Amino acid sequence: MFKKILVANRGEIALRVQRACRELGIKAVMVYSEADRDAKYVRLAEEAVCIGPAPSGQSYLSMPAIISAAEVTDAEAIHPGYGFLSENADFAERVEKSGFQFIGPTPESIRIMGDKVSAKQAMIKAGVPCVPGSEGELPDDPAALKRLAKSVGYPVIIKAAGGGGGRGMRVVHTEAALLAAVQMTKAEAGAAFGNPAVYMEKYLQNPRHIEIQVIADKHRNAVYLGERDCSMQRRHQKVIEEAPAPGIPRRQIERIGERCVAACKKIGYRGAGTFEFLYENGEFYFIEMNTRVQVEHPVTEWVTGVDIVRTQIMVAAGEKLPFTQRQVQIRGHAIECRVNAEDPFKFTPSPGRVTMWHMPGGPGVRVDSHVYNNYFVPPNYDSMIGKIIVHGDTREQAIARMQTALAETVIEGISSNVPLHRELMVDANFIAGGTNIHYLEKWLSDHQR
Ligand code: ADP
Repeated sequence: MFKKILVANRGEIALRVQRACRELGIKAVMVYSEADRDAKYVRLAEEAVCIGPAPSGQSYLSMPAIISAAEVTDAEAIHPGYGFLSENADFAERVEKSGFQFIGPTPESIRIMGDKVSAKQAMIKAGVPCVPGSEGELPDDPAALKRLAKSVGYPVIIKAAGGGGGRGMRVVHTEAALLAAVQMTKAEAGAAFGNPAVYMEKYLQNPRHIEIQVIADKHRNAVYLGERDCSMQRRHQKVIEEAPAPGIPRRQIERIGERCVAACKKIGYRGAGTFEFLYENGEFYFIEMNTRVQVEHPVTEWVTGVDIVRTQIMVAAGEKLPFTQRQVQIRGHAIECRVNAEDPFKFTPSPGRVTMWHMPGGPGVRVDSHVYNNYFVPPNYDSMIGKIIVHGDTREQAIARMQTALAETVIEGISSNVPLHRELMVDANFIAGGTNIHYLEKWLSDHQR
């Protein structure tokens, strides 16, 4: 097992990895930008290295700064968390070339999955069902494009091969709008992702977002840890996640989970990963794979009892998965609310000093956050400042626990989206379960204030 790991991230996930290291008896080296000097995990750290000024380009995204921090502290491995460099194949490669273990998949796996066209092709080969669409990159020939869209059937969605974070997508309803949409998406993709390649998919009108968590070791063992329903989204960003997904037959989850495991074995995947699907009319359609730990991993940890971050570290160190597929049982129901520093209904970011931070407790409540009383939320990064996660024997009990937890929560000095979560937890359609990916946006426009 490693003796020392460098945590190349910030915020709640940095704290989460630090906690896992402590439990395993591993020293965690924390890195921080000048804006994160006072972060909780920096104060708790045995060792911490300042890697640069506040802008992430000069700190959390700086490969030389992070790799030299690992060198000067004699770390053996680097945990990338999520976001920042976590899905950057060049980073993973540089980490390994510098003699450190990257806690994640191989650079080749990251590269294949990072390009959505090659990811889809790999999935089709591995027998994972995909959204119908172009086989690969779109042709330039207008007549060929029109033929393709016609055979896929309108509406279609044009997506950037290198896209991410919900950007680089455009829905096309008619042939008249097709060519301009392809041109615009290409130009935007080139500018935003440095890769102008785009592809086409059928635009599914009312899908749910269901994803399968997998974890694999270096000995060709892979298991899936059930599914998560992440359909409650705003601007393609997840707001509430839960496990299991309400109303989907277990047998169907097992079938898609087995496909994901087979795909992992086929591509030699190792570490934690997530296969994201759209689910419509009882069918799963693969859209992309995330090759890292996800924000919403705690709901899976709670219903399976598997510590995903600990397992990531163990398999990166070369250990075998400590459980088999048959030992993974789903117990009860878990829900996560992402807590953001923002206006709850206008969504303007609200960084600043937190004058009061009181988090809920009691049976079945978990809070993952790096925030504390008098902490200053820097304006430089993502607005997520924590996560409230609950577990219950049933979905009803989990919802009741989340209602209670949110009622106990007090955040002062800055605005947070806790008031929005309080309203969503008593919404009849959310309580009924199975809402689609447009539900939250529609709810927000119906509840404008
Ligand atoms: P990103 O990497 O930017 O998150 P994804 O491919 O995962 O991109 O898609 C993000 C979101 O966009 C999905 O969760 C869904 O809401 C929407 N979306 C993507 N592809 C389709 C599609 N074919 N039909 C309908 N919605 C889609």
